[in-house]
This record gives sequence, structure tokens and C-alpha cells, in this order.
Amino acid sequence: PPLLSLDHVDKRYANGVLALHDVSLAVGPHEFVSLLGPSGCGKSSVLRLVAGLDGATRGNVSAPALERRAPADTACVFQDATLMPWASVFDNVWLPLRIAGQSRAQAAERVDAVLRLVGLADFAQAHPAELSGGMKMRASIARALVAQPRVLLMDEPFAALDEFTRQKLNDDLLHWWQASTLAVLFVTHSIYEAVYLSQRVLVMGARPGRVVDEVVVDEPYPRR
Ligand code: ADP
Ligand code: ADP
Repeated sequence: PPLLSLDHVDKRYANGVLALHDVSLAVGPHEFVSLLGPSGCGKSSVLRLVAGLDGATRGNVSAPALERRAPADTACVFQDATLMPWASVFDNVWLPLRIAGQSRAQAAERVDAVLRLVGLADFAQAHPAELSGGMKMRASIARALVAQPRVLLMDEPFAALDEFTRQKLNDDLLHWWQASTLAVLFVTHSIYEAVYLSQRVLVMGARPGRVVDEVVVDEPYPRR
């Protein structure tokens, strides 16, 4: 069974905009799927529905975030790394475990492990303002992964980074995904990025937003 699914979903916002019309999609365990389309076609709206941040107007949404017992099963990464500027990298990454009731000492081993994974072991005590854009994104991904979610939702995570940093993060993300059991739903308007990263690309069109094509990428990871 899929881990995430939308079944004939419409989303109409309070201002009357029909952002999604008759969208159906499914993502299975350990799949890497991209949502590709131009600005305004409804990609973020889909992500908000499966993150449990908003409700559908019509149709059914099924996702771990909507199951009361599994709030930590979904993690989100946005273009803005959204780190707490007053807190160290360690404390930022600790946050999800802290919310789950783990003390700093209880969380330390897991936080250190995930900081090593993303290449920030030497920056645990640094503050976000001391980090480059790429390193801030690495910290944000570490925070997303620390509680070992089943689903990772990413909304244009690397769009603000320079080309080289972005390519390195794309490669590292594939590596982290492959070593995990994560299902990833990755929003992008870059055709290159969607094809490079994904096993499957869902192509969206606008007015109203809907899935207009589905492309299976036939050369699966690993490519390095
Ligand atoms: P994308 O992520 O592909 O750029 P969005 O899901 O952000 O697309 O937006 C889809 C459409 O819905 C756009 O026309 C946008 O203006 C509209 N929209 C998004 N969020 C809201 C909102 N909270 N209220 C009203 N309209 C919205
Ligand atoms: P990224 O590739 O993550 O965007 P940069 O290209 O800015 O990072 O930096 C390349 C390397 O330089 C980083 O991996 C890091 O080891 C080091 N570096 C960057 N910013 C700092 C900093 N503020 N303090 C110490 N080392 C840094």
C-alpha cells in the first residue's frame, strides 16, 4: 500500500482560487518522487495537504502526518532553512527530539550521528549566522532526519543555493535517501533536478492545478 496518497482531490482556498482539481497520486515506501511544474500550479498546496497543514476541499488525502499516533513520521524541509538563529546547530537539530521529550543528554548520540551524516560534525556549536547557505540547508536536513521520519517533504529546498552547492546537495540527498527507508516527495520547478533525483516525476499544470503527466525515470540511482 502507498505511504502517501491523494485521491481525486480538489483544493479551493478561501479567496475562491481553485488551486488543485482532481489530483490523484501515490508515493510508496522508499520512493523518491518529484512534483514538477511552473510556479503557481499547486505543488506547495499538495505538500501542505500531505503534511497535514491544510485540508482538502474534496477527495481523500492519506498520509502518516494525518494519523494521530505518528506525528514524527513526517518531516518538512523548505527553501528557507528556518533555523532558530539564537540556538546552536546542535540545539536546532535536537528540537524534534526535545519536543518528543528527550533531554539534551538522551538526544546527544542521535544528534551527533545525524550531524556526521550531513557533514556538520565540526559545527555542532556554531550558530546559523556562521554557516554558509549550503551548511544551513544541511542543518535543516539534519533536523528533518533526526527523528527518523518515514516521509520527507521538500519544497524547493535548494532553489536559493548556487549551482555547485546545489549539485553537491542533490548528490548527498540521494546518498542519504538510499541509505534510509525514507519516502521523499520533492517539489521543484527544475526539470533537470526532478529527473536527476527521482525515480518518478509527476508533472503538474496550472489553472487549475492538476497532474498532467507521470514520467518514470529509467536509470535508477546509484549513478555515481
Ligand atoms: P506552487 O507551489 O506550484 O507555486 P501553490 O500551491 O503555492 O503553487 O499555489 C497554487 C495556487 O493557489 C496559486 O494560484 C496560488 O496563488 C494559490 N494559493 C496558494 N496558497 C493560497 C492561499 N493560502 N490562499 C489563496 N490562494 C492560495
Ligand atoms: P557550502 O558548500 O555548504 O555552501 P561553502 O562553499 O560556503 O559551503 O564552504 C565550503 C566549506 O568551507 C564548507 O564545507 C566548510 O567546511 C567551510 N566553511 C564555510 N563557511 C564556514 C564558516 N563560517 N566557518 C568555517 N568554515 C566554513
